[in-house]
Amino acid sequence: MNNDLNFYINGEWVKSESNELIDVINPANEEVLGRITAGTKEDINNAVKSALSAFSSFQYTSKVERIELLNNIITEYENRYDDFVKIITKEMGAPIWLSEKAQASTGIKNIHETLDALKDYQFERPEGDYTLIKEPIGVIGMITPWNWPMNQITTKVSAALAAGCTMVLKPSEISPFCAMLLAEVFDKAGVPKGVFNVVNGYGPIVGAALSEHPDVAMMSFTGSTRAGIAVAQASAVSVKRVHQELGGKSSNIILDDVADLERSVKGGAGHCFLNSGQSCNAPTKMLVSAKNYDKAVEVAVNTANNTSVGDPMGEFRIGPIANKAQYEKILKMIEIGIEEGASLVAGGIEKPEGCDKGYYIKPTVFANVTNDMTIAKEEIFGPVLSIIKYENEDEAIKIANDTEYGLAGYVQGEPEHAKEVARKIRAGQVIINGGARGTGAPFGGYKSSGNGREHGLHGLEECLETKAVIAP
Ligand code: NAD
Repeated sequence: MNNDLNFYINGEWVKSESNELIDVINPANEEVLGRITAGTKEDINNAVKSALSAFSSFQYTSKVERIELLNNIITEYENRYDDFVKIITKEMGAPIWLSEKAQASTGIKNIHETLDALKDYQFERPEGDYTLIKEPIGVIGMITPWNWPMNQITTKVSAALAAGCTMVLKPSEISPFCAMLLAEVFDKAGVPKGVFNVVNGYGPIVGAALSEHPDVAMMSFTGSTRAGIAVAQASAVSVKRVHQELGGKSSNIILDDVADLERSVKGGAGHCFLNSGQSCNAPTKMLVSAKNYDKAVEVAVNTANNTSVGDPMGEFRIGPIANKAQYEKILKMIEIGIEEGASLVAGGIEKPEGCDKGYYIKPTVFANVTNDMTIAKEEIFGPVLSIIKYENEDEAIKIANDTEYGLAGYVQGEPEHAKEVARKIRAGQVIINGGARGTGAPFGGYKSSGNGREHGLHGLEECLETKAVIAP
């Protein structure tokens, strides 16, 4: 049975209260890939009711039982791995190599990170003259975006399961099918009825209904700062905990003592273009001293021109932008960059060769960018790199911190020196010399990039309440 139009509630695929449908578009060819139902407040009420009912017993499951459940989920996820790879590519346009090596695999990695944290976690421990008890917070409402769909969903759901919470997920209406596939995986893995529920639909309707629901104890949101604020406002009425992973505008500082300038610039530009620039932590501003500036621009231009763009089912480095609205926003930002006087040195608004249909954008580089320009201030969420010249290190740090965001930062240079600079960056994660995102390392933002941290122990603790039991 095809469940595309149904929701997963209380362990069953059920029909929505609504007949309104949403077309899910394949961004590679602009054709309708499938349809989902636009849910209603009533659907959310049903899903929350099921999650609340399941919480009454799931909260008391043992650590051993939850470890077994997470292991079963990994097994079933692996059994459906190829399906995840294909559906992610079709619904959000990540090239098939990226879906396979990162988009789908991050789901398994995240669950392992949570398992590692859970195995060592003490939910009850003596502290001084009292006992500290960590308890699951309750029903968690989850709202996720389309850019790294399995990454964002699995980090939330694995932490909630490990904590003993139950949940209602509203995935992005733009890339909903991988979440529905995950529901099939959970079903097969034996996740008890009502523990995990999925309702599709529009943010301002079902997302808002979830956020304001009095029986939801916590909202875990990943997406734009705009929607994150709306979720927090709706949540405030029932005083729920709100976890937010929001936008970013991250700088990549290339210090003068960098070991290999060319390699660092190439790596930084390549990271900016990865996933067509649709990563909240992408290093979209490259900060380079006057001494290295011209060489850095030359290398970044070469990197952009050598980054192949095309059909995500083919052998291209990057695929299309995930949806039309985002595509148009990026084109507009490139136009604004030109209007405000930045030098367009690679890419631009013309479609890449051979990409007439689909939302394709050329990897784009702007030089002579100043930090007051719109392209340096606003999140573009596309393959657009801005290169800014700094006079000295203090100025580089000032530019990196002169943003409303604080999700990530990057520093390239002599390792100890780079670490010193990293300490001064106001962001939740700073990566030195192109290292990987550490296993279990907390992920989340300062300032308008959000509240709270995900992954491993940090994600698990977000889903817990703290109780002190004091006895004479
Ligand atoms: P979006 O905010 O438009 O949508 C994200 C989710 O929020 C979707 O499921 C959407 O339906 C829902 N939503 C929209 N309006 C809502 C409302 N009023 N109430 C409740 N829910 C609502 O973002 P997007 O376009 O899907 O994703 C791109 C954004 O996500 C970028 O800004 C990016 O930086 C951010 N992002 C952040 C992280 C992070 O970890 N910090 C990760 C990925 C993406």
